[in-house]
Amino acid sequence: MAARFAPTDITADVSKLSPPDRQVLAKLVEASRIVDALFLRQAWSGNDAMLVDLARDGSPEGRARLHYFLINKGPWSRLDHNRPFVPGAPPKPPGANYYPEGASKADLEKWIQSLPAAERERASGFFTVVRRSLDVARDRPERVEGRSGTGFRLVPYNLEYQPELERMASLLREAAQLASEPTLKTFLTKRADAFLSNDYYDSDVAWMELKGAIEPTIGPYEVYEDELFNFKAAFESYVTIQDETETAKLQRFASELQDIENNLPIEPKHRNPKLGALAPITVVNEIYAAGDGNRGVQTAAFNLPNDERVVREKGAKRVMLKNVQDAKFAKTLLPISRVVLGASDQKDLAFDAFFTHIVMHELMHGLGPHTISVNGRQTTVRQELKEQYSVLEEAKADISGLFAIQHLIDKGSLPRAFEPSLYTTFLASAFRSIRFGVSEAHGKGIAIQLNFLLDQSGFTTKADGTFAVNRDRIKEGVTALTREIMTIQAEGDYAKAKALADRLGIVRPPVQKALDRLSEIPVDIEPRFTTAAQLRQ
Ligand code: ZN
Repeated sequence: MAARFAPTDITADVSKLSPPDRQVLAKLVEASRIVDALFLRQAWSGNDAMLVDLARDGSPEGRARLHYFLINKGPWSRLDHNRPFVPGAPPKPPGANYYPEGASKADLEKWIQSLPAAERERASGFFTVVRRSLDVARDRPERVEGRSGTGFRLVPYNLEYQPELERMASLLREAAQLASEPTLKTFLTKRADAFLSNDYYDSDVAWMELKGAIEPTIGPYEVYEDELFNFKAAFESYVTIQDETETAKLQRFASELQDIENNLPIEPKHRNPKLGALAPITVVNEIYAAGDGNRGVQTAAFNLPNDERVVREKGAKRVMLKNVQDAKFAKTLLPISRVVLGASDQKDLAFDAFFTHIVMHELMHGLGPHTISVNGRQTTVRQELKEQYSVLEEAKADISGLFAIQHLIDKGSLPRAFEPSLYTTFLASAFRSIRFGVSEAHGKGIAIQLNFLLDQSGFTTKADGTFAVNRDRIKEGVTALTREIMTIQAEGDYAKAKALADRLGIVRPPVQKALDRLSEIPVDIEPRFTTAAQLRQ
């Protein structure tokens, strides 16, 4: 089971950082180790005890279980629908350790509804856990204050995780002392305050305003681990530094976006004559990831914060982890290409093409139709396409990303030599995405593109079961699908969107055959944070 994650060194060039800045990174890595411990406890109340048991078991099976436990941050295999792999582990509790063990969703809902408005908001908020009144009374009698008869009570994170958060806050303050960049000092200081006050607003704003080489993300953020309500935020950490080359490339692309919009292959009336401000995107290299940011399949990009008040006032920031993408490319995409492509095409596989397309995918989300008019009614693509929206929007960002890069090649903004690697790398990466299934938006979107381009002969299948790019037809196919998807979006045509997804968002036999031959290839990486380890020495 663990072999599906290829051990990979995660490195980043810190040689340009000043010695104090390197110490800042070391402090952040130290704080992140506490994040790992916090997340382990958030995921399941039994994790700490089980980790001790597994660590004591010196048998080969015991060591293998410990290894896989650490990858998954618990005794359930996240790649296998959370199947338990440690004997005696119960099924994964959907409410993780955010709610009392055994409490039913209906009872919790009833209790939340019975609360006064302000408390109800905290109960469904990010930064509290729910405990049984009795548990709290027995374990921590000092925290009981009235509220009898409900059976449940709220405990804020700054009490529930007090010792760890106090330690993390002092590490962040030490890092702030060492840091020279003022916006970094501000973020670290405000985030340290937030750990103790449980009020994260100011520090989220400070995170949006970060500048300079060091880009840390540390705190309670994503709510996926709370499968019961998606209310509660899991602790995670990404210690990263800016990638200067890619950040410069991003600036260059940003200045081309209006020209790309003006040349989209749709009716001119559907184009946006004045694009809004670009949502901030930053390209970084990871030094260390912890907690919810390092379990199972590794995060390659994230969009934060999640607090809607901050997003309304300051927007959100997209952070792309370049060296993690590079590791996935080397350990999964290259071996996949050796199976799905012919020998002569493998030389065209290139990380630069892979990553440039990922960056362009993000930018293209901002182009094309968003606010539309249907029969004279002002509406949005999202509202009209309902549950089909995400699938089509992800497919749009991919396919129009290819269109946009080709446009930049044709006008001389990118080298002509980029062209072969662009399409061949996309073809191989389609198989990597579909391996994760076509039930979620991204995989289904990729299946639509792969099948459309096969039907249009932009991609072809060969007798030996491999796939190839047809240079004579690929550009036409990409343009045609960009037009088709964006026109459906512009017209807000739900029926057409659903028909397209139903017809093409599937795995057909030749593709399935190729997927079957990938079973021995790693699904993802297991990071080894070598640069972080060197910082501590
Ligand atoms: Zn996307």
